[in-house]
Amino acid sequence: MKIYKAAIIGLGPSGLAVNKILFGDTYDEIIAFEKENINNRDNFFGFWLTDWMKPFENIIEKKWYKWTIGNKNINVTHTSSHKPYCVISFKNWKNFCLETKNKLEIKNNQVVKYAPVQNYFKITTDDNKEYYAEKIYDSRSAKQKKDELLQHFFGVYIKTADNTFNEKKLTLMHFTKENNILHFIYILPFSHNKALIESTVFSKEVFQNSWYREKINDYLKINNITEFEEKSTEKGVIPMFFAEEKKALNANIFNIGIRGGACKPSTGYAFSFLIKQIQLLKTSKKNYINIHKFLDKKMDNIFINFLKNNYEDGKSFINLASNLNGNEFQSFMMGESNLLTKLKIIKSMPKLPFIKELFK
Ligand SMILES: Cc1cc2nc3c(=O)[nH]c(=O)nc-3n(C[C@H](O)[C@H](O)[C@H](O)COP(=O)(O)OP(=O)(O)OC[C@H]3O[C@@H](n4cnc5c(N)ncnc54)[C@H](O)[C@@H]3O)c2cc1C
Repeated sequence: MKIYKAAIIGLGPSGLAVNKILFGDTYDEIIAFEKENINNRDNFFGFWLTDWMKPFENIIEKKWYKWTIGNKNINVTHTSSHKPYCVISFKNWKNFCLETKNKLEIKNNQVVKYAPVQNYFKITTDDNKEYYAEKIYDSRSAKQKKDELLQHFFGVYIKTADNTFNEKKLTLMHFTKENNILHFIYILPFSHNKALIESTVFSKEVFQNSWYREKINDYLKINNITEFEEKSTEKGVIPMFFAEEKKALNANIFNIGIRGGACKPSTGYAFSFLIKQIQLLKTSKKNYINIHKFLDKKMDNIFINFLKNNYEDGKSFINLASNLNGNEFQSFMMGESNLLTKLKIIKSMPKLPFIKELFK
């Protein structure tokens, strides 16, 4: 009977990070289970450059030092000379994380259950096979919870006529007025004629692709972009609640990625946080990392409850952006804001609804 050093459940960004960061420099035998064909997955992960992301600068696809947040009337532009907004594609991350010294065996199967047996685990897959490993890194995540908000989006990667986009400036949020939901367009201009245009909604229900497509087309039309070639699409649903599992009682079970609490629910950013989580696991004696600080979590919860109970058309986000400079804004988004920035954020929020949420 073969006992692997570790079993990774799910080869999303966090499972891949475990292979690279925790075992990449070892000669350990690792087994990974993934129920989907990850070669079909491709999307871009955005984040602001932080110290912990610097080791991955070589695989960053593009950096933007300027970004905007606004609507049809107002546009706030932020700049940061040393902490740009960056993107890494899933494909690049996958290739980077699979290039390691250790021996990784990948099974294209769904894990049905696992249980401890003496000092190792027995893992059962959907084809009724059994595997054994000393440690479990589990990234299966619950994406939906009744009555909770979701961030859901659909994007198209397009090629247009020359000089359509300003490739130096990213549109982080361009809010449009919709009935009772928060909607914005996100644009990653990779070059003067190639961009990812995404329609994003904060609501409890996910929509049909045609809904987001209509919003993207409306936006393109308003900006006189009528001729374009669609290269690819991406789609996602991210929980706007803390979706982590309870800390595992068995010290050799590690809940990772969104399952391990990496997502910042008010923004949907999870990629750089899950990398930080795996980096910290490397030196920690514990099987769980509290990636978001207590005060950040509290502020996130208040903000999400505010979004759940009030109609918000983007004005609070624009107001927040206009009260912060680029460095303060990115520090808040990456969970690194100081007390002064936090106070500025609280000051920017609509007072009465926030006080109500605080005392709920
Ligand atoms: C399209 C998209 C774009 C995003 N963009 C950004 C962004 O710009 N910036 C950012 O910070 N975050 C972004 N996110 C959020 C977050 O970074 C991602 O959701 C990320 O994929 C989370 O990684 P994970 O490893 O925790 O989970 P997942 O990526 O969900 O990986 C879990 C894996 O486990 C597999 N699995 C599940 N159950 C089983 C089972 N029983 N057996 C075997 N395999 C199983 C799944 O198939 C999946 O591949 C985005 C998310 C999506 C979907």
